[in-house]
Amino acid sequence: MTVSFKDKVVVVTGAGGGLGKHYCLEFAKRGAKVVVNDLGGSLSGQGGDSRAADVVVEEIKSAGGEAVADYNNVLEGDKIIDTAVKAFGTVHVVVNNAGILRDAQFKKMSEQDFQLVTDVHTNGAFKVTKAAWPYFRKQHYGRIINTASPAGLYGNFGQANYSAAKLGLIGFAETLAKEGDRYNIKANTIAPLARSRMTESILPPPILEQLGPEKVAPMVLYLASEANTDLNGEIFEVAAGFYAQIRWERSGGVLFKPDESFTPESVAKRIEEIMDFDDSSKPELLKNQYPKMLNDYKSLNEAA
Ligand code: NAD
Repeated sequence: MTVSFKDKVVVVTGAGGGLGKHYCLEFAKRGAKVVVNDLGGSLSGQGGDSRAADVVVEEIKSAGGEAVADYNNVLEGDKIIDTAVKAFGTVHVVVNNAGILRDAQFKKMSEQDFQLVTDVHTNGAFKVTKAAWPYFRKQHYGRIINTASPAGLYGNFGQANYSAAKLGLIGFAETLAKEGDRYNIKANTIAPLARSRMTESILPPPILEQLGPEKVAPMVLYLASEANTDLNGEIFEVAAGFYAQIRWERSGGVLFKPDESFTPESVAKRIEEIMDFDDSSKPELLKNQYPKMLNDYKSLNEAA
Protein backbone atom coordinates (compact mmCIF):
# COMPACT_ATOMS: atom_id res chain seq x y z
CA MET A 1 0.00 0.00 0.00
CA THR A 2 1.38 3.39 -1.00
CA VAL A 3 0.11 6.54 0.62
CA SER A 4 -0.37 9.14 -2.09
CA PHE A 5 -1.78 12.65 -2.08
CA LYS A 6 -1.99 13.02 -5.85
CA ASP A 7 -4.89 15.40 -6.66
CA LYS A 8 -5.34 16.20 -2.98
CA VAL A 9 -5.28 19.75 -1.61
CA VAL A 10 -3.77 19.96 1.86
CA VAL A 11 -3.88 22.96 4.20
CA VAL A 12 -1.39 22.99 7.06
CA THR A 13 -1.69 25.87 9.50
CA GLY A 14 1.34 27.25 11.31
CA ALA A 15 3.57 25.57 8.75
CA GLY A 16 6.39 28.11 8.52
CA GLY A 17 8.56 26.07 10.89
CA GLY A 18 8.69 23.13 13.26
CA LEU A 19 6.26 20.27 12.77
CA GLY A 20 4.03 22.02 10.24
CA LYS A 21 6.90 22.72 7.87
CA HIS A 22 7.92 19.10 7.93
CA TYR A 23 4.35 17.93 7.24
CA CYS A 24 4.17 20.24 4.20
CA LEU A 25 7.43 18.92 2.74
CA GLU A 26 6.23 15.34 3.17
CA PHE A 27 2.75 15.99 1.76
CA ALA A 28 4.29 17.70 -1.28
CA LYS A 29 6.74 14.84 -1.85
CA ARG A 30 3.73 12.54 -2.10
CA GLY A 31 1.97 14.66 -4.70
CA ALA A 32 -0.23 17.00 -2.62
CA LYS A 33 -0.99 20.56 -3.57
CA VAL A 34 -0.08 22.29 -0.35
CA VAL A 35 -1.23 25.52 1.27
CA VAL A 36 1.51 26.59 3.66
CA ASN A 37 -0.17 28.87 6.18
CA ASP A 38 1.83 30.87 8.70
CA LEU A 39 1.65 34.42 9.93
CA GLY A 40 5.27 34.19 11.02
CA GLY A 41 4.83 35.52 14.55
CA SER A 42 6.83 34.98 17.72
CA LEU A 43 6.38 31.98 19.99
CA SER A 44 4.08 34.06 22.20
CA GLY A 45 2.01 35.20 19.23
CA GLN A 46 3.41 38.63 18.48
CA GLY A 47 4.31 40.19 15.15
CA GLY A 48 4.26 38.61 11.74
CA ASP A 49 6.54 37.82 8.82
CA SER A 50 5.54 36.39 5.45
CA ARG A 51 9.00 34.86 5.01
CA ALA A 52 8.15 31.92 7.28
CA ALA A 53 5.62 30.49 4.81
CA ASP A 54 7.52 31.70 1.73
CA VAL A 55 10.66 29.74 2.62
CA VAL A 56 8.68 26.49 2.89
CA VAL A 57 6.89 27.13 -0.41
CA GLU A 58 10.21 27.80 -2.14
CA GLU A 59 11.66 24.58 -0.76
CA ILE A 60 8.67 22.59 -2.02
CA LYS A 61 8.75 24.21 -5.45
CA SER A 62 12.47 23.77 -5.89
CA ALA A 63 11.99 20.06 -5.22
CA GLY A 64 9.35 19.99 -8.00
CA GLY A 65 6.26 20.13 -5.77
CA GLU A 66 3.22 22.39 -5.75
CA ALA A 67 2.51 24.86 -2.95
CA VAL A 68 1.20 28.33 -2.19
CA ALA A 69 1.84 30.50 0.83
CA ASP A 70 -0.86 31.96 3.04
CA TYR A 71 -0.09 34.52 5.74
CA ASN A 72 -3.45 34.78 7.48
CA ASN A 73 -4.09 34.36 11.15
CA VAL A 74 -5.94 31.08 11.78
CA LEU A 75 -8.62 33.20 13.42
CA GLU A 76 -9.42 34.20 9.84
CA GLY A 77 -9.66 30.61 8.75
CA ASP A 78 -12.07 31.39 5.92
CA LYS A 79 -9.31 33.39 4.20
CA ILE A 80 -6.94 30.42 4.46
CA ILE A 81 -9.48 28.12 2.84
CA ASP A 82 -10.09 30.82 0.18
CA THR A 83 -6.39 30.65 -0.63
CA ALA A 84 -6.72 26.89 -1.15
CA VAL A 85 -9.82 27.23 -3.30
CA LYS A 86 -8.40 30.05 -5.43
CA ALA A 87 -5.13 28.21 -6.02
CA PHE A 88 -6.32 24.61 -6.30
CA GLY A 89 -10.14 24.57 -6.51
CA THR A 90 -10.96 22.85 -3.19
CA VAL A 91 -9.52 21.43 0.02
CA HIS A 92 -9.28 17.78 1.09
CA VAL A 93 -7.14 17.88 4.23
CA VAL A 94 -6.82 20.36 7.09
CA VAL A 95 -4.01 19.97 9.59
CA ASN A 96 -4.75 22.29 12.52
CA ASN A 97 -1.20 22.81 13.68
CA ALA A 98 -0.71 26.54 14.37
CA GLY A 99 0.11 27.31 17.95
CA ILE A 100 1.62 29.67 20.46
CA LEU A 101 2.73 29.46 24.07
CA ARG A 102 2.14 31.89 26.91
CA ASP A 103 3.27 29.83 29.86
CA ALA A 104 2.77 31.16 33.36
CA GLN A 105 1.87 29.71 36.71
CA PHE A 106 -1.88 29.99 37.05
CA LYS A 107 -1.44 32.47 39.89
CA LYS A 108 0.25 34.85 37.46
CA MET A 109 -1.61 33.95 34.28
CA SER A 110 -3.47 36.94 32.86
CA GLU A 111 -6.82 36.74 31.16
CA GLN A 112 -5.07 37.80 27.95
CA ASP A 113 -2.61 34.88 28.22
CA PHE A 114 -5.52 32.49 28.56
CA GLN A 115 -7.61 34.09 25.84
CA LEU A 116 -4.86 34.36 23.23
CA VAL A 117 -3.74 30.76 23.62
CA THR A 118 -7.25 29.32 23.47
CA ASP A 119 -7.99 31.65 20.53
CA VAL A 120 -5.11 30.49 18.38
CA HIS A 121 -5.34 26.77 19.16
CA THR A 122 -9.03 26.11 19.64
CA ASN A 123 -10.91 28.95 17.99
CA GLY A 124 -8.38 29.04 15.15
CA ALA A 125 -8.94 25.33 14.48
CA PHE A 126 -12.68 25.98 14.55
CA LYS A 127 -12.45 28.81 12.00
CA VAL A 128 -10.31 26.88 9.53
CA THR A 129 -12.32 23.68 9.85
CA LYS A 130 -15.65 25.50 9.63
CA ALA A 131 -14.61 27.04 6.30
CA ALA A 132 -13.38 23.70 4.93
CA TRP A 133 -16.41 21.70 6.08
CA PRO A 134 -18.79 22.55 3.17
CA TYR A 135 -16.12 21.42 0.67
CA PHE A 136 -15.57 18.19 2.62
CA ARG A 137 -19.30 17.43 2.70
CA LYS A 138 -19.87 18.25 -0.94
CA GLN A 139 -17.03 16.09 -2.22
CA HIS A 140 -17.63 13.32 0.31
CA TYR A 141 -14.03 13.50 1.40
CA GLY A 142 -12.29 15.31 4.21
CA ARG A 143 -9.52 14.64 6.66
CA ILE A 144 -8.91 16.78 9.74
CA ILE A 145 -5.94 16.35 12.02
CA ASN A 146 -6.01 18.40 15.20
CA THR A 147 -2.91 18.96 17.23
CA ALA A 148 -3.35 18.44 20.95
CA SER A 149 -0.51 17.91 23.39
CA PRO A 150 0.49 15.68 26.28
CA ALA A 151 -0.03 18.87 28.31
CA GLY A 152 -3.69 18.73 27.33
CA LEU A 153 -4.01 15.05 28.18
CA TYR A 154 -2.20 15.11 31.49
CA GLY A 155 -1.80 18.77 32.47
CA ASN A 156 1.54 20.52 32.82
CA PHE A 157 2.87 23.03 35.28
CA GLY A 158 2.55 26.58 33.92
CA GLN A 159 0.28 25.63 31.02
CA ALA A 160 -3.31 25.98 32.24
CA ASN A 161 -4.19 27.99 29.11
CA TYR A 162 -2.44 25.62 26.71
CA SER A 163 -3.79 22.47 28.41
CA ALA A 164 -7.36 23.78 28.24
CA ALA A 165 -6.98 24.70 24.57
CA LYS A 166 -5.38 21.39 23.65
CA LEU A 167 -7.90 19.15 25.38
CA GLY A 168 -10.64 21.22 23.75
CA LEU A 169 -9.28 20.19 20.36
CA ILE A 170 -9.83 16.54 21.27
CA GLY A 171 -13.52 17.02 22.11
CA PHE A 172 -13.87 19.09 18.95
CA ALA A 173 -12.48 16.28 16.77
CA GLU A 174 -14.51 13.63 18.57
CA THR A 175 -17.74 15.38 17.67
CA LEU A 176 -16.68 16.24 14.10
CA ALA A 177 -15.87 12.55 13.68
CA LYS A 178 -19.43 11.63 14.53
CA GLU A 179 -21.04 14.33 12.40
CA GLY A 180 -18.69 13.84 9.45
CA ASP A 181 -18.52 10.08 9.20
CA ARG A 182 -21.41 9.71 6.75
CA TYR A 183 -19.64 12.18 4.42
CA ASN A 184 -16.32 10.33 4.62
CA ILE A 185 -14.92 13.07 6.82
CA LYS A 186 -12.47 11.75 9.40
CA ALA A 187 -11.27 13.92 12.29
CA ASN A 188 -8.46 12.67 14.49
CA THR A 189 -6.09 14.22 16.99
CA ILE A 190 -2.40 13.80 17.67
CA ALA A 191 -0.55 14.70 20.86
CA PRO A 192 3.04 15.06 19.65
CA LEU A 193 6.36 15.80 21.22
CA ALA A 194 9.02 17.13 18.86
CA ARG A 195 12.03 19.34 18.48
CA SER A 196 10.96 22.88 17.60
CA ARG A 197 11.23 26.37 18.97
CA MET A 198 8.53 25.33 21.45
CA THR A 199 10.73 22.72 23.08
CA GLU A 200 14.31 23.73 22.33
CA SER A 201 14.61 25.96 25.40
CA ILE A 202 13.06 23.46 27.82
CA LEU A 203 14.42 20.04 26.86
CA PRO A 204 18.09 19.01 27.05
CA PRO A 205 19.99 18.56 23.74
CA PRO A 206 20.34 14.73 23.97
CA ILE A 207 16.54 14.46 24.24
CA LEU A 208 15.91 17.03 21.52
CA GLU A 209 18.16 15.07 19.20
CA GLN A 210 15.73 12.14 19.35
CA LEU A 211 12.66 14.27 18.78
CA GLY A 212 12.90 14.97 15.07
CA PRO A 213 9.64 16.12 13.41
CA GLU A 214 10.18 13.41 10.77
CA LYS A 215 9.14 10.94 13.48
CA VAL A 216 5.72 12.61 13.88
CA ALA A 217 4.87 13.28 10.23
CA PRO A 218 4.14 9.64 9.23
CA MET A 219 1.15 9.44 11.58
CA VAL A 220 -0.22 12.76 10.34
CA LEU A 221 0.11 11.69 6.71
CA TYR A 222 -1.49 8.33 7.38
CA LEU A 223 -4.48 9.87 9.16
CA ALA A 224 -4.82 12.43 6.36
CA SER A 225 -4.77 9.87 3.57
CA GLU A 226 -7.31 7.77 1.70
CA ALA A 227 -5.61 4.78 3.32
CA ASN A 228 -7.30 5.84 6.54
CA THR A 229 -10.71 4.38 5.94
CA ASP A 230 -11.80 3.83 9.52
CA LEU A 231 -9.90 5.86 12.08
CA ASN A 232 -12.19 8.66 13.17
CA GLY A 233 -12.29 10.52 16.46
CA GLU A 234 -9.13 8.80 17.67
CA ILE A 235 -6.24 10.23 19.67
CA PHE A 236 -2.61 9.26 19.14
CA GLU A 237 0.49 10.14 21.10
CA VAL A 238 3.47 10.48 18.79
CA ALA A 239 7.06 11.20 19.79
CA ALA A 240 10.57 10.05 18.99
CA GLY A 241 9.29 7.15 16.91
CA PHE A 242 6.82 6.01 19.58
CA TYR A 243 3.23 5.73 18.32
CA ALA A 244 0.39 4.89 20.70
CA GLN A 245 -3.34 5.36 20.97
CA ILE A 246 -5.01 7.12 23.87
CA ARG A 247 -8.60 6.39 24.86
CA TRP A 248 -10.99 6.94 27.70
CA GLU A 249 -11.39 4.36 30.39
CA ARG A 250 -14.30 4.25 32.83
CA SER A 251 -14.11 2.34 36.07
CA GLY A 252 -16.66 -0.39 36.71
CA GLY A 253 -18.46 2.12 38.90
CA VAL A 254 -20.85 1.76 41.77
CA LEU A 255 -24.62 1.72 41.63
CA PHE A 256 -26.02 3.21 44.80
CA LYS A 257 -29.19 1.39 45.64
CA PRO A 258 -32.39 3.46 45.77
CA ASP A 259 -32.75 2.76 49.45
CA GLU A 260 -29.19 3.93 50.18
CA SER A 261 -28.71 7.52 51.32
CA PHE A 262 -27.28 9.78 48.58
CA THR A 263 -24.92 11.75 50.76
CA PRO A 264 -21.30 12.88 50.57
CA GLU A 265 -20.65 10.47 53.42
CA SER A 266 -21.84 7.50 51.39
CA VAL A 267 -19.58 8.61 48.52
CA ALA A 268 -16.66 8.85 50.92
CA LYS A 269 -17.41 5.35 52.15
CA ARG A 270 -17.35 3.85 48.67
CA ILE A 271 -14.83 6.10 46.90
CA GLU A 272 -12.31 3.29 46.45
CA GLU A 273 -14.96 1.12 44.81
CA ILE A 274 -16.00 4.03 42.55
CA MET A 275 -12.39 4.35 41.44
CA ASP A 276 -11.73 0.66 40.98
CA PHE A 277 -10.69 -0.02 37.38
CA ASP A 278 -10.64 -3.82 37.67
CA ASP A 279 -13.93 -4.02 35.80
CA SER A 280 -13.43 -0.99 33.53
CA SER A 281 -14.89 -0.25 30.09
CA LYS A 282 -13.69 1.91 27.18
CA PRO A 283 -16.56 4.24 26.28
CA GLU A 284 -16.73 5.77 22.81
CA LEU A 285 -20.30 6.85 22.18
CA LEU A 286 -22.30 9.21 24.33
CA LYS A 287 -25.49 7.28 23.73
CA ASN A 288 -23.87 4.15 25.09
CA GLN A 289 -22.87 6.03 28.20
CA TYR A 290 -26.24 6.49 29.78
CA PRO A 291 -25.83 4.27 32.77
CA LYS A 292 -27.78 1.11 32.20
CA MET A 293 -29.36 1.59 35.59
CA LEU A 294 -31.36 4.63 34.47
CA ASN A 295 -35.01 3.63 34.63
CA ASP A 296 -35.78 5.08 31.27
CA TYR A 297 -32.57 3.90 29.62
CA LYS A 298 -34.34 2.62 26.52
CA SER A 299 -36.16 5.82 25.62
CA LEU A 300 -33.05 7.93 26.34
CA ASN A 301 -31.12 5.73 23.97
CA GLU A 302 -33.76 6.07 21.28
CA ALA A 303 -33.81 9.86 21.65
CA ALA A 304 -30.03 10.14 21.22
P1 NAD B 1 6.33 26.13 16.12
O1 NAD B 1 6.30 27.35 16.97
O2 NAD B 1 7.54 25.87 15.32
O3 NAD B 1 5.09 26.12 15.11
C1 NAD B 1 3.91 26.81 15.31
C2 NAD B 1 3.68 27.73 14.13
O4 NAD B 1 2.38 28.30 14.23
C3 NAD B 1 4.68 28.89 14.06
O5 NAD B 1 5.37 28.84 12.82
C4 NAD B 1 3.80 30.13 14.18
O6 NAD B 1 4.24 31.23 13.42
C5 NAD B 1 2.46 29.61 13.72
N1 NAD B 1 1.34 30.39 14.24
C6 NAD B 1 1.18 30.81 15.52
N2 NAD B 1 0.04 31.50 15.63
C7 NAD B 1 -0.54 31.49 14.41
C8 NAD B 1 -1.76 32.03 13.91
N3 NAD B 1 -2.59 32.71 14.71
N4 NAD B 1 -2.05 31.85 12.62
C9 NAD B 1 -1.21 31.17 11.80
N5 NAD B 1 -0.04 30.64 12.22
C10 NAD B 1 0.28 30.80 13.51
O7 NAD B 1 6.04 24.91 17.09
P2 NAD B 1 5.75 23.36 16.80
O8 NAD B 1 6.36 22.62 17.93
O9 NAD B 1 6.08 22.96 15.43
O10 NAD B 1 4.18 23.30 17.05
C11 NAD B 1 3.24 22.81 16.11
C12 NAD B 1 2.00 22.36 16.87
O11 NAD B 1 2.32 21.23 17.67
C13 NAD B 1 1.44 23.41 17.83
O12 NAD B 1 0.03 23.36 17.82
C14 NAD B 1 1.95 22.94 19.17
O13 NAD B 1 1.15 23.42 20.23
C15 NAD B 1 1.87 21.45 18.99
N6 NAD B 1 2.70 20.69 19.91
C16 NAD B 1 4.04 20.70 19.80
C17 NAD B 1 4.80 19.96 20.69
C18 NAD B 1 6.28 19.90 20.58
O14 NAD B 1 6.88 19.13 21.35
N7 NAD B 1 6.92 20.66 19.68
C19 NAD B 1 4.17 19.24 21.70
C20 NAD B 1 2.79 19.23 21.79
C21 NAD B 1 2.06 19.95 20.86
